Amino acid sequence: MPDRRPHRAAFLGLVALLAVVFGGPAAAAAGGDTLIGIVRSRIRTPVDFAGAPEVVWLLETPQGKFTLDFTEPPTEDLTGREVTAHGLVQDQRIAVTDYAVKPRKQLPLEGGPEPASHQTGTQNTIAILNKFADIAAEPQPSSFFSSLLFGAFPSLKTFWEENSYNAMTLGGSINGWWSLPQPQATYNAIPNFDARLNQLVADALTTAAANGMTDIPNGTRLLLFFNERFGCSCAVGTLGFENWNTPWGVRTFSVAWFPGGNLATWAWAVDVVGHEMGHNLGWWHSGNVYFTYDSNFDVVSRGCKAEGSHTIVFNKVEAGWLSGPSAFALPFGTTSTYTVFPTTRTSGLRGLTLDMGDGLRAYSIEVRLHEGHDACIPEEGVLIHCWHKDLEDWAKKPVDATPGDGTLTNALWLPGMTFSEPAYGLTVQVWRQNPNGSFDIVVFWPLPAGVGCFGVPSSVAIQVPLGTPVSMVARQFTALLPPTPTAALMPAPLPCN
Ligand SMILES: [Zn+2]
Repeated sequence: MPDRRPHRAAFLGLVALLAVVFGGPAAAAAGGDTLIGIVRSRIRTPVDFAGAPEVVWLLETPQGKFTLDFTEPPTEDLTGREVTAHGLVQDQRIAVTDYAVKPRKQLPLEGGPEPASHQTGTQNTIAILNKFADIAAEPQPSSFFSSLLFGAFPSLKTFWEENSYNAMTLGGSINGWWSLPQPQATYNAIPNFDARLNQLVADALTTAAANGMTDIPNGTRLLLFFNERFGCSCAVGTLGFENWNTPWGVRTFSVAWFPGGNLATWAWAVDVVGHEMGHNLGWWHSGNVYFTYDSNFDVVSRGCKAEGSHTIVFNKVEAGWLSGPSAFALPFGTTSTYTVFPTTRTSGLRGLTLDMGDGLRAYSIEVRLHEGHDACIPEEGVLIHCWHKDLEDWAKKPVDATPGDGTLTNALWLPGMTFSEPAYGLTVQVWRQNPNGSFDIVVFWPLPAGVGCFGVPSSVAIQVPLGTPVSMVARQFTALLPPTPTAALMPAPLPCN
């Protein structure tokens, strides 16, 4: 796939040139249309987490939002990237025949005015309760949603406060029930599902403005609840922010859509709202070891009903909620014992991460107990994840302590158990649980024979860029070692189980 990129870029460059020469639209020159915009991703969660999610790519352009229909799905995460897409445009979709991706300038969501503090501070959470024009039911009072989102434990507010160690909280309002201008069938009738979602946002905001709402500020977490389903048995969340035309001008915010009717008992709960908000915070799923949504240990997988389940240490580190003495990134050459506290605690070391340095695998270690928003997880113990850096969705997979049994409900590592990954010379032994709930964990990831202090073979000198991680430096040195240990250390990537 990567070798096709230059061709794409050249082709689109030619189209652009033709457009200039002939003074007409590039679309006419090539028998199709050309759209330039920022790619946005939306993830649909099937009801009861049964089945596979559907990831939808949209191109956000000055002309509107267009669903991208790829003949071959992209091999990289295009979210937030500027893309020039060529193909036939119809019904707010584009059948992509060719596309070019602008080189990435910044992480994580280039092109979107992503506020720097989008995972910290008070998230302005605006909920709108929407009634289809032909359905009068108001299945729950406003107070139900107030409790769900902002109330006492277990609410979404306490959920994110606990997950973030109070680095992030929710504040905002419950609005409605307000009647949408169209009956349910109108929204169901549009063939393009994401165009329907766009219309639901537009109509909900027009209605909100008519009812006195004065703005949806940038950075808002917009949660739309409906009194019936909107054409699918699913809930939907945007991956990060999108730009939207609103009655108050263009605004940047995330959106999650929650169905009502007989799906409300599933969707209007901490686990499902937390799951979609996890996407809104920018996270893909974890799990999919045996089947989709198979990890009860991450709200951005299946999570668990009632309290929701925390998200995983990789996400907490990415958000900056764990850092410094609360999460160690262990260097290659580590051989030590660590006392790791449950992820539900507010102090102490709560996560270990180990980057294998080959661009393919990293591991994380965390402790999970039945407490707080983890009260509903299936068991207690040590959770190890393997991050497949060559995957997009489902890249972070629990390493099952009981591999091959088809379930992750007993995936945790208990005292006396040892995880080892010979390909990387990595061994993790769960030694014991302490009375305060923490676990003593032995990590053995030694330098290979023949590598001296700090991984420097005595007769070799190489230069690495300033700031290169120690583990990466060690990798580069090991590549210079005699063939036998090198071969043992640099195998093809293995599955995580
Ligand atoms: Zn999802």
